[in-house]
Amino acid sequence: MAPVLEVSGLQTHFFTFGGARVVKAVDGVSFSLGDGETLGLVGESGSGKTTTCLSIVGLLPRAARIVGGRVLFEGDELTRMSQRELRRVRGRRIAVMLQDPMASLNPLFTIFRQVAEPAFFHQQMRGRTLRARVQQLLKAVRIPSPEWRMRDYPHQMSGGMRQRIVGAIALAGGPKLVIADEPTTNLDVTIQAQYLDLLKDIQRETGVALIFVTHNLGIVAKMCDRVAVMYAGKIIEQASVRELFDDPKHPYTRALLGSVPKLGSKEPLYSIAGQPPNPASLPPGCPFHPRCREALPRCASVDPPDFHLGDGSVARCWLLDDAVARP
Ligand code: SF4
Repeated sequence: MAPVLEVSGLQTHFFTFGGARVVKAVDGVSFSLGDGETLGLVGESGSGKTTTCLSIVGLLPRAARIVGGRVLFEGDELTRMSQRELRRVRGRRIAVMLQDPMASLNPLFTIFRQVAEPAFFHQQMRGRTLRARVQQLLKAVRIPSPEWRMRDYPHQMSGGMRQRIVGAIALAGGPKLVIADEPTTNLDVTIQAQYLDLLKDIQRETGVALIFVTHNLGIVAKMCDRVAVMYAGKIIEQASVRELFDDPKHPYTRALLGSVPKLGSKEPLYSIAGQPPNPASLPPGCPFHPRCREALPRCASVDPPDFHLGDGSVARCWLLDDAVARP
């Protein structure tokens, strides 16, 4: 079956100081996503996760431009579409959920108006049908007494409820793909767990594919089928969740997993030395080499290519080349 979304060799650059300075925020990213599948996009701040997602839906800031690669969504090449054409894709076929619900909700409009809008524009619902649809969506995201609460404004809702309203808006247009950019960052842990369960239930019912952007590996283990780990604008390892947690191939992934607290363990937590590189002046060679405990001499001068491993995972690290080369 053809994937719902296929991103290949995507390159998005920022052009600053009138184009004199080029920042390669996304540099050759490739992945695909099937029906009902969840891909976790993981990495530190500034690794290119959000820019990858914004490139897919054509919501890049003015200084950024897609300079290479393609994004095929249900057979349509999104990078060639005009903003007018993309507006028909966003909301109806691809929905985006941002991390701060207050940035997505308009404080001046009722919940009804905001949830109804995508169904009004993309599914041409009107009158009673539209009211019933809004109530159904609010019920699906477990808002109590939806017939009353839909008259409220965002400030009358708790943080968890506002995040669920954002979920209802995302589903209102009946999308095939939802991009959720750190949707649980502002929630406390109990509400976070409830919200993740809710997202999983909705995904099971609707079959929607999900890209889940996060830096929380616990959420990845709970939510995702596959994981792509990003560093300095590139995917440095991509594998199934089980494969990545059982046998991480890249030193950066191993370091990330080593820095997660484990129940009952008395071992000190591992911390990755140094800071993520400045995307405007990346080091030569492997961008992780200044922080890598396992670096080889060639890592400082030559960037490793993708190594495709037999189990379907892909990783960019010279250690894998050595492993393949050794008899
Ligand atoms: Fe470390 Fe070298 Fe692998 Fe980069 S290529 S992660 S520096 S071992």
